[in-house]
Amino acid sequence: MNTMTYGEAANPAVPSDPDAIPPVNVVALLGGVGGAKLASGLAQLLPPERLTFVINTADDFEHLGLYISPDLDTVMYTLAGLVNPETGWGVKDDTWNALAMLARYEAPTWFCLGDRDLATHLLRTQWLREGFPLTWVTQQLCLLLGVRQTLLPMSDVPVRTRVLTDEGELAFQEYFVRYAWQPRVCAIRFEGIEQAHPTSAVVSALRGADVILFGPSNPFVSLDPILAMPAMRRILSAVRAPRIAISPIVAGQALKGPAAKMMRELNLEVSPVTVAAHYRDLLTGFVLDHQDADCAITISTQMSIRLLVTDIVMHDETDRVRLARETLQFALQQR
Ligand code: GDP
Ligand code: CA
Repeated sequence: MNTMTYGEAANPAVPSDPDAIPPVNVVALLGGVGGAKLASGLAQLLPPERLTFVINTADDFEHLGLYISPDLDTVMYTLAGLVNPETGWGVKDDTWNALAMLARYEAPTWFCLGDRDLATHLLRTQWLREGFPLTWVTQQLCLLLGVRQTLLPMSDVPVRTRVLTDEGELAFQEYFVRYAWQPRVCAIRFEGIEQAHPTSAVVSALRGADVILFGPSNPFVSLDPILAMPAMRRILSAVRAPRIAISPIVAGQALKGPAAKMMRELNLEVSPVTVAAHYRDLLTGFVLDHQDADCAITISTQMSIRLLVTDIVMHDETDRVRLARETLQFALQQR
């Protein structure tokens, strides 16, 4: 597990840390790999009971009879110390025997399922079939893996991202994994979004939050499904907590995945300005990289929000903790 630094100030023998973060309730809206990096930084700064992660479930899908929640699993494996550090998703040191056997059966193997990872999907599927909601299933999996922060699916109602491309409409995982996000995106829609509502756990976490963060996740396919649930914008606009987004775009590029390519295909400028404008009314602050410092003026003239310009590329654990700390300090100045 991560080294916890938040407890040090409580010990009178240890001099209090001037950079220590006070024990505030933080809720972060997250997708998978980018979101998990922020989550792991936050986890080293605050006690677990102060941290709630609201996670995109519009990437979820059924495959070979299994219910798979890629973003929930990425955040859960990261916080459990189990994630594959090379990919940022999946279980480290996993093996691929089941996948090799599926190949022998000529079954689809485009979605990589490691042997250890499969156990998570088997158990989740079993519990969902028994009638337990995804929120409960996630809580059990986290408990059993020793993850003490609260991980909440955005909703217990299924929402499915569909990507309209030049090769037709694709289910999200087909677009993302099977076709390696190569088809050109024309539009994105979230099937089931009209019926979806944030769970009561999500609503009370947001209402009790001292700070709300939008992780550096893909705005179009990771955070938009969370924000597109009909009740969500109203709930977010009604809370008084500072609401800060971290840009997933640095120097005209996404650090991983299709965010920049999607922006180009949707005729948007690949820039943190586009990200800030995308969340517009929902934010009180925005964090962008030094390399994009010249965008700060554009954002300030277009929107009345505060800006933090810092290093937002998280190469390692030290970067994650530093960015989480700077973002929280920036947020707390706004209370
Ligand atoms: P996914 O669900 O696994 O695709 O992950 P997310 O949507 O949570 O994250 C993908 C986004 O994270 C991409 O748009 C990346 O640009 C962004 N990202 C990845 N690593 C970093 C990082 O170190 N810093 C920042 N600011 N963004 C990052
Ligand atoms: Ca995802």
